[in-house]
Amino acid sequence: MEHFIYALINFALLAIIVFFAGRKLIARIFRDRRERIDTALDEAEKALSEVSEVAEDNYIAEAEAELEKEAARIIADRSAEMQKENRQILERHGALLQSEVESMRKDVLDRSRDLTLEALHCQAIALMSEKSVAEEFRKHEKAILEKILDRICLTPGDLSYLVHHDVLYVTLTSAFPLEEGFVKLVEERVTKMLDAVNGKPSLWVLTDEACLGGLKLRIGDTVYDGTVSNSLEQMIKKLKNYPLDSADTVESVEEQLMEGLTHYAPSIDKYQLGRVVSISDGICWLDGLADIMYGEIVEFEGGTEGMIQDIEPGRIGCVIFDKYECIESGTKVRRVGKMASVPVGEKLLGRVVDPLGKPIDGLGTIWAEETRPIEYKAPGITARKSVCAPMHTGIKAIDALIPIGKGQRELIIGDRQTGKTAIALDAIINQKGKNTVCIYVAIGQKDTTVAEIYEKLKAEGAMSYTTIICANASCSASIQYIAPFSGTAMGEYFMYAGKDVLIVYDDLSKHAVAYRELSLLLHRPSGREAYPGDVFYLHSRLLERSARLADELGGGSMTALPIIETQSGDISAYIPTNAISITDGQIFLETDLFNEGQRPAINVGLSVSRVGGAAQTKLMKQVSGNLRMILAQYRELSTFAQFGADVDESTKAALSSGERMMAALKQPRYAPLTDGETALVLFAVSEGFASAIEVAQIAEFEKELIKEFKDRKQDIMTCLNKGEKLSDDFKERLKAEIGEFAERFAYGRTA
Ligand code: ATP
Ligand code: MG
Repeated sequence: MEHFIYALINFALLAIIVFFAGRKLIARIFRDRRERIDTALDEAEKALSEVSEVAEDNYIAEAEAELEKEAARIIADRSAEMQKENRQILERHGALLQSEVESMRKDVLDRSRDLTLEALHCQAIALMSEKSVAEEFRKHEKAILEKILDRICLTPGDLSYLVHHDVLYVTLTSAFPLEEGFVKLVEERVTKMLDAVNGKPSLWVLTDEACLGGLKLRIGDTVYDGTVSNSLEQMIKKLKNYPLDSADTVESVEEQLMEGLTHYAPSIDKYQLGRVVSISDGICWLDGLADIMYGEIVEFEGGTEGMIQDIEPGRIGCVIFDKYECIESGTKVRRVGKMASVPVGEKLLGRVVDPLGKPIDGLGTIWAEETRPIEYKAPGITARKSVCAPMHTGIKAIDALIPIGKGQRELIIGDRQTGKTAIALDAIINQKGKNTVCIYVAIGQKDTTVAEIYEKLKAEGAMSYTTIICANASCSASIQYIAPFSGTAMGEYFMYAGKDVLIVYDDLSKHAVAYRELSLLLHRPSGREAYPGDVFYLHSRLLERSARLADELGGGSMTALPIIETQSGDISAYIPTNAISITDGQIFLETDLFNEGQRPAINVGLSVSRVGGAAQTKLMKQVSGNLRMILAQYRELSTFAQFGADVDESTKAALSSGERMMAALKQPRYAPLTDGETALVLFAVSEGFASAIEVAQIAEFEKELIKEFKDRKQDIMTCLNKGEKLSDDFKERLKAEIGEFAERFAYGRTA
């Protein structure tokens, strides 16, 4: 024990010595180490700060460089974009400017040519009036008189005049006093001619310096004109109707005129003359013109034209086409010897013309090679073929339910602002690339409306095969009256050339009003609603000209879409009932449907096409078979469903499918669908594939469905577009594909 205590004390003593000795050593060791660590830390810190400084510098520089690059790229992209935009704007403006300049050039050419001709006319008259020249013409007097006497005869008008009168007035007019012998010769010949019919002449001999040279003889209303002034006028007229191309200069035209005058060969012009008795409101009453016929063109002094519309004993009613300020009682009227006609042909395509065929679009004169009478006999029964080829409008509701065939007359009827014009325009736009000529006749519309239509058709690329005939609201009743007839004549040219034509009369109610105005001014007795009795004949003879010609006549067709505006949906008014009975069916547009948002607002119940299925493809016939049924059921049930909320399941199903079908028949403007697309959509909806889709989504469903089939299932789309009947296998495949798509669509909407 004692031993142990000594060892413990020794250990304690040793420990104290070690502690005091080692403390200093350990402290030194720790101090050294701390110093080393501190210096290492300082160095590390220094290095770190240096490194971060360098890194920061580099990073900023890099970022700056990157930014600069990005900015340069953006600027380059933007400037390229802007350049492209600028180029496009410039190109567009350039094209506009070019067409403007071209139209101005044509306008100036036309105007300068008219002015030149007028100046030349005056110059020629002055030249002829010179004594030496006039003496030259006197040498021809005998020859002219002989020619006149060879041609004289009595017209039916003179003969009927002589039934009631003994004396027929004969006037011999010359530029210079005639020799006695000449007058005697005329008297002898005329007396001999009249003796044969127990009549006597009353001969008047006049001199008129305005004749410039030569002479003319008037027997009754017929004038045998061998005067120089008349020859000159005819020459100028001929030059005016001759197309001027850029190679023509004033000198060359002048040369032609002078050539005609220096080699002057006296020719005799035979025409009948009358005079204006009274004039008012675009109508005038004429005297004379004994043999004139209904519908003939007459020319007033000064060049204005008119058309004969009424023949009564003792007076003739004539409508005036142009300005009539220069016409007064006593103005001379000349029978031109032609029926009212308009220029026709390819050159009219793409143009806007007035009912006389004169351009009003500022694109220069139309030098058409041919003219056609505005009134023409409608093709007879043997000249026609049955209407059996479809004329697609691209509007689902029409192509499926009210099919229109080539050569058909389908009336578009409805109140104002119900989308009548929209349907007709869509039908025109849908004819693109189908080798069909379209004619749009605007009657009594505002200029701005027609301008909008023109711009729209141009933008849709439809003007290249379309002619617009425009008789706006400010035109006289006579011009409005002939507008649809002119349009039909222009269409007939293509129909008889074997082409298909679509003609739109927008609208015939205004046409009937114009005709009523004309008839009242002509003092014709008025009938129902103050329309003249022949207003039915007016529209029937117009619409009968639309036909599908037999193969021997070229197989062309003219499909007519007349438009009638009703008042408060009253289709039993005079003009609507007439038009309904003349046409082969009607598309009835309803204001209520339009306001509900159902556009096109076609009332399927009241609309019919009497040609029916013959003008539909087999596919469409198959697909649209039960559509009418679905819609009729829907209409019936929806009326009942309004009263009570409790409806059974089958009614609910019928209502739901009807609602969806109505939604599927909606279509925006200017978005025509092909027959295959229409069939696809209607098939999908009628087979119930849209039943799980909200009504509001139907439009999108339709769009997506068409897109899907056009992009990914082209083989099916091609088959559908052929219009063949669906075989059972194909139908199943179609159903499977549509079903799969509908599922995907519904899932996409709910997901
Ligand atoms: P008006 O009696 O004045 O001649 P209208 O019956 O010819 O009129 P439109 O001018 O064709 O009617 O159309 C009237 C309005 O309805 C226009 O503003 C047109 O844009 C619109 N509209 C017509 N059809 C449709 C459609 N399918 N979808 C949407 N809007 C339409
Ligand atoms: Mg309209």
